[in-house]
Amino acid sequence: MAVRATVSRFPMDADAQEAGGLPWGVTVTPFATVDERGEPPAYGSDGHLLPRCENCWAYFNTHCELEQWAWSCSLCGALNGLSSEAVTRYSQPLACAEMRSTFIDLELPVDGPGEEPMQARPVYVAAVDLSSSEEFLELIKSAVLAALEALGPGSLFGLATFSHKIGLYDVQGPIPVVKNIFIPPDADNTLQIELEDAMLLSSFLAPVETCKDRIAAALETLRPTTSWERTTSAGQGLDGVLLGGRGFGVAMEALINYLGSEYGNTFALARIFAFLSGPPDYGAGQLDTRRYGEQYASKREDADRALLPPQTPFYKDLAAVAVQAGVCVDIFAVTNEYTDLASLKFLSIESGGSLFLYSNTDDSTLPQDMYRMLIRPYAFGCVLRVRTSNEFKPGRSYGHFFPDPQYENVQHIICCDSYGTYAYDFDFTSSFGFSRNVADSPMLQIAFQYTVFVPPEELASAENISPSRSGHSLKRRIRIRTLKYETARNINELYDSVDSEVVMSILVHKVISASLEEGVREGRMLLHDWLVILTAQYNDACKVVQYGNGSLATSQIDVAFTQCPQLQPLPRLVFALLRNPLLWFHEEGVHPDYRIYLQCLFSALEPRSLHRAVYPVLTSYATPDKQAYPRHSLSRAALITSGSPIFFLDAFTTLIVYYSSTADPILPFPPPHDCLLRTTINKLKQERSITPKLIFIRGGQDDASAFEHYLIEEQDVDGSGLTSAMGFVSFLEEIVQNALLFTWTRNRSIIQHIEPNLSHAMAAFVHFVDSSIVSLQWTQWSQWFVCVGTDSFGRFIASKCCYSTGFFSAIMKAEVVRAALLLNEELPMKNKR
Ligand SMILES: [Zn+2]
Repeated sequence: MAVRATVSRFPMDADAQEAGGLPWGVTVTPFATVDERGEPPAYGSDGHLLPRCENCWAYFNTHCELEQWAWSCSLCGALNGLSSEAVTRYSQPLACAEMRSTFIDLELPVDGPGEEPMQARPVYVAAVDLSSSEEFLELIKSAVLAALEALGPGSLFGLATFSHKIGLYDVQGPIPVVKNIFIPPDADNTLQIELEDAMLLSSFLAPVETCKDRIAAALETLRPTTSWERTTSAGQGLDGVLLGGRGFGVAMEALINYLGSEYGNTFALARIFAFLSGPPDYGAGQLDTRRYGEQYASKREDADRALLPPQTPFYKDLAAVAVQAGVCVDIFAVTNEYTDLASLKFLSIESGGSLFLYSNTDDSTLPQDMYRMLIRPYAFGCVLRVRTSNEFKPGRSYGHFFPDPQYENVQHIICCDSYGTYAYDFDFTSSFGFSRNVADSPMLQIAFQYTVFVPPEELASAENISPSRSGHSLKRRIRIRTLKYETARNINELYDSVDSEVVMSILVHKVISASLEEGVREGRMLLHDWLVILTAQYNDACKVVQYGNGSLATSQIDVAFTQCPQLQPLPRLVFALLRNPLLWFHEEGVHPDYRIYLQCLFSALEPRSLHRAVYPVLTSYATPDKQAYPRHSLSRAALITSGSPIFFLDAFTTLIVYYSSTADPILPFPPPHDCLLRTTINKLKQERSITPKLIFIRGGQDDASAFEHYLIEEQDVDGSGLTSAMGFVSFLEEIVQNALLFTWTRNRSIIQHIEPNLSHAMAAFVHFVDSSIVSLQWTQWSQWFVCVGTDSFGRFIASKCCYSTGFFSAIMKAEVVRAALLLNEELPMKNKR
């Protein structure tokens, strides 16, 4: 379990937190085998005997004061009695894990003491879209074969297909037998027959070790359904109208119910791999993809807001059914058609599964991704609980879990691998903040209960049981981290303790939430304003800004954070995130499904990986065997001045080796298999949760645009928003201007409780009048903040900002504003820039 905080020294109180301008929270990677420093937990047994505080239910840990018959809780301070068994155990200090380490992993009894460990076989089902193409099916066949290679003995596997009918395969006989069940075309009809009546589940689920060849043979028989078959079999489309034939929703619902009957009996967790080649367009759960076309055609609506929410609760509801049935669904969409992942995503992320999107079948890494996903261990049936000492509490939580309906700060995670990461931010419980007494340091305890499969061989060797007994066993465990933090005595200590990667993680979560709730434009504004405010607060704290006669011209803003190396990466990260397809506007050409895919991917990444996805790591090599520079900024100028012939870019999902056009032709291209560069690439691929796409480009010969579009620092990004046509240098200039006005306005107490979005309206002022503002007045009128001022020429100027949405118009003549105010009219919107 790795836990990383945005600041390793916590702010003293709410005022100090506010003054710092930094998010305060942690990222948690609960199933990581080691902690953030690479240390493994202390393993032990009898997790159910671990003493718990009677007041706050925290677990006993080494930070607790232990007396002979009692212990005081390190989180809440309550004094708790010890049972005589515990007294005996704790009389030998190093005998048990909880006395040795603050990071422990303890076994819990599954069935109660003395009983055999519960047995259940892992169950996997591939559900293949036949309303597809030959190329799609070829790719799925190799993906399923890769999956079969990764599955251990004792696993059960089922093959199903869907189109306008559901196909169930029995591969346990000499030849594969398929049973078809037709799906009613209407959205509100259900299947005529239960899948269990068409084929017994025991016939459908085949043991992997004995049936691998026959599963492969069954895969060979898969053919795409023809449009003729679709229209005639379903008795539809009489007038030559081709109706859809992808009954995905019904097929998923039926499969989940089919498997659910054996939940807790045959299996403890079943995983469905859903291979989809386009939007569900048939039967219940069908999606109307016309909304995409309509948005394209219409210029009046905000397409970014329209395409992000789900169009039906069908898949969110189905995810809840899947959770009840012990089924986790992984969705693999291989398509560049609009498939509305905004609606479909819930079925995967809420049931504990993953969402994968491949835009075409040619260079898809699907088989590799399947193999890697299945070969690594995963935990399931997990419960994550965060407890804190009294002075603070968890605020918002982020990640692919769902909250417990009953208990606060309890999250359920259906399925989780060692990469899965979640985030929390914190709030103070009162205005007092933390005590200055070191003994009362902020404490955080994270408890993670989970179940894992233990393969028969491993169990046999661990517990000295005969390996002849087939079948997997389940182990329930609890992993607990107890962390003690220091507090920052002043703002400089706070800034010096910043972990910029974790700050970025929390920001990405906040920005994704804002995008989903209020649109991408809002997400961008939030991020931009955050940096403005941080810059202003930092400059304020370091007393860089000098105020002379109310004039802005004498002030200098330090946006490079020269006095604080920990903050220095942040402007670049924010700049890069604003340019990431995650925050592209619809009109900037981002595919709405790709944006949803990125949202799902980014919100599960641990901070280091996320950092790479946002601001790729660019290194250079003198030869394939010799590194030149470990780090370059993403700028053409940096490339040229370095003079290196070979560059290697790691953007998390993509790895690019780029030979500059001036590289010596003697250098082997592509780099040979035994060189340092290749070793580096292979190591990165091994460590990654997904398979990155590897591209080799020779400058001057190949199309280099795949590489060049990552060189964002000089790039003018076309867009109509705040970030339009701006390289990194101009971006910083703009942040400086905004921060200046923010500071200036705040220091004059014109607006006490300023809404962050307001800084845009103020920024507009700065652009227009620069340092010549001589008076400035803000008034709140209806839902608008109206800003009226005079410049040094005595001209009236005004800006307005919508209080609720932050939408602002730039500068307009004060007369216009006054006239509008008098007439009680809507202010005319006119963007000057
Ligand atoms: Zn307690």
